[in-house]
Amino acid sequence: MLDNKEKIYDTAIVGCGPAGLSAAINLKIRNMEFIMLGVEFCTPKLYKAENVDNYLGFYNISGEELRATFLEHARKMGIEIQNNKIDNIYFQGDYFTLISRNIEFKAHSVIIAVGVSNEKYLPGEEKLLGSGVSYCATCDGALYRGRNVAVVSFTEDGVEEAEYLSELAENVFFIPQYEFNGKFLVNNIKVINKKVQKINGELRVESLTLENSELDIDGVFVLRELTPPDKLLFGLEVDNKHIKVNEQMETNIPGVFAAGDCTGLPYQLARAVGQGQVAGLNAANFVRKKKKLITKTT
Ligand SMILES: Cc1cc2nc3c(=O)[nH]c(=O)nc-3n(C[C@H](O)[C@H](O)[C@H](O)COP(=O)(O)OP(=O)(O)OC[C@H]3O[C@@H](n4cnc5c(N)ncnc54)[C@H](O)[C@@H]3O)c2cc1C
Repeated sequence: MLDNKEKIYDTAIVGCGPAGLSAAINLKIRNMEFIMLGVEFCTPKLYKAENVDNYLGFYNISGEELRATFLEHARKMGIEIQNNKIDNIYFQGDYFTLISRNIEFKAHSVIIAVGVSNEKYLPGEEKLLGSGVSYCATCDGALYRGRNVAVVSFTEDGVEEAEYLSELAENVFFIPQYEFNGKFLVNNIKVINKKVQKINGELRVESLTLENSELDIDGVFVLRELTPPDKLLFGLEVDNKHIKVNEQMETNIPGVFAAGDCTGLPYQLARAVGQGQVAGLNAANFVRKKKKLITKTT
């Protein structure tokens, strides 16, 4: 059961990298009520940058120092980062619902600033998405009550998803694609330490091809560090793996904006920060207009 929060924020920002943080400080200056959702470490990309020379005003600075400076700026403005990875976003007629495991958030507008991933789909994954392939156990787990499912996990997040599924499914096969040293205390989760090569099935998922073996299953949950943007929000237009935006950072879905690496090349800080600002200001305008319209019609 979802933990239903009734509050509808003006804006939900998904992603706490430079683009998301830039959107946040501009929403704050505009006095908007927003929520900033990110994963624990904002942001691994910047942390990995040994030396940054091309960000104006900060010559010869390490990525980590710049990251800490950005976060400190946000903290000083009273911006809090809610530690929630968003699994799905739905439009519900009048507002957007963002789902993170068993919590949901509501907002009139959304800024997607999730960065970009280089991970490739597994063969069969895209074709069978929605027909046995899922990215969210909380959203789709109930469909597999009494059945056999696999959790193919590239991240530690998969552990919790497997535990949740074990309450519903007959058997859960946990197949870590990273070094996993833990163990489960529930009997119906079996750990298989093999690489997954392929997801098989014509109309629905039927099995997985693993190294030297085949595993029959009814559904598979694929857990990655980043969910591809068009899988995050159904109907979001993408070009290859980048979200399509116009100069106002508007996507094809009214009320949804995107900024930063997730919108395309070059993957650079200054671009991410600039786009975050434009997205923040336009999300604020969108919500103001929407609220005025509601006041006029009531
Ligand atoms: C090694 C390296 C060196 C670099 N050097 C430079 C340089 O010198 N100069 C330069 O200009 N740029 C450099 N870059 C690029 C720069 O780091 C990126 O362009 C910048 O970080 C992009 O910001 P972003 O906010 O768009 O995305 P990211 O920084 O990737 O931030 C996205 C955030 O969103 C979070 N997120 C993702 N999905 C979700 C979800 N579903 N729910 C909640 N949160 C989510 C991620 O965890 C992450 O924290 C470098 C990058 C690397 C990797």
